[in-house]
Amino acid sequence: MVTRDPVTAPPTSDADVAPWTAALGLDGLTDLHVHFLPDRVLQKVWSYFDNACEHYGRAWPVHYKEPEDVRLGRLRDLGVTTFAPLVYPHKPDMAAWLTSWALDWAAQVPEAVPTATLYPEPSVTSYLGDALEAGARVVKAHVQVGGYDPRDPLLSDAWGLLADAGVPVIAHCGNGPIPGSFTGLDVFGQVLEAHPRLTVVLAHAGLPDYTGALALVERFERVYLDTTMVGTAYTEDFAPLPADWPARLAGVGDRVVLGTDFPNIPYAYWEQIAAICGWAAADDRLGADFLRRVCRTTPDSMVGLG
Ligand SMILES: [Zn+2]
Repeated sequence: MVTRDPVTAPPTSDADVAPWTAALGLDGLTDLHVHFLPDRVLQKVWSYFDNACEHYGRAWPVHYKEPEDVRLGRLRDLGVTTFAPLVYPHKPDMAAWLTSWALDWAAQVPEAVPTATLYPEPSVTSYLGDALEAGARVVKAHVQVGGYDPRDPLLSDAWGLLADAGVPVIAHCGNGPIPGSFTGLDVFGQVLEAHPRLTVVLAHAGLPDYTGALALVERFERVYLDTTMVGTAYTEDFAPLPADWPARLAGVGDRVVLGTDFPNIPYAYWEQIAAICGWAAADDRLGADFLRRVCRTTPDSMVGLG
């Protein structure tokens, strides 16, 4: 019998992801960056992507524009046994109810990690504190869509609360796909300077500023990268990785976690896994061990399952 090498034989379809995972010796995947939202909000997000040419200058045909039960079935078929469903506000007075929606939703879905979100507003410490008490294990901060300054003094106690709790913040704070008013890793770097013990996952590995993201990983010991959209053909077209990306990951292989942006991606899920396999295959210091850490061990330990 020929045994499949998961490093050199990446998945070639969504149906092939679960067999690939098994070949890697894992009993499932942990994806820290997926989105489930109240249906009304999700429909708005999808119509934004329908007009992506106008917003981003390129088409963004959402691949999994399907009813919620179908999307959940997809994740189960893919073997994603743990995932963080992320919600995020684009205006004030929205984060608290989105957070309670996310906590209620996660309570009904065994694979879902309870999550919360935040916005600079006077009530933030109160609803975030309640969410942590209710078991939130991951917090989403969307600096680009929220249009807020992460250095806002209204957020200072919230960052402190999360640093003390050791709960990771998935921060979309890079300038991609388009810059926001307060995006940029230099800006978020100032949040880390003020809260150096904060656990932060830089969403999309800081896309397009991959070098700046790696610099923050090297500087702050609780900063991580997620793989969301990174290295896929779609993203390489507008935010290509540096040629020596796999070599640069070699020293920080335990600071990278699987993220995908499912379901709002303009390609199939397996393409993200295949991109990560490409890095693992390109440098001997990565290999299968790197894949197991990215897809399972590191994210599990961050949400308290490791
Ligand atoms: Zn996302």
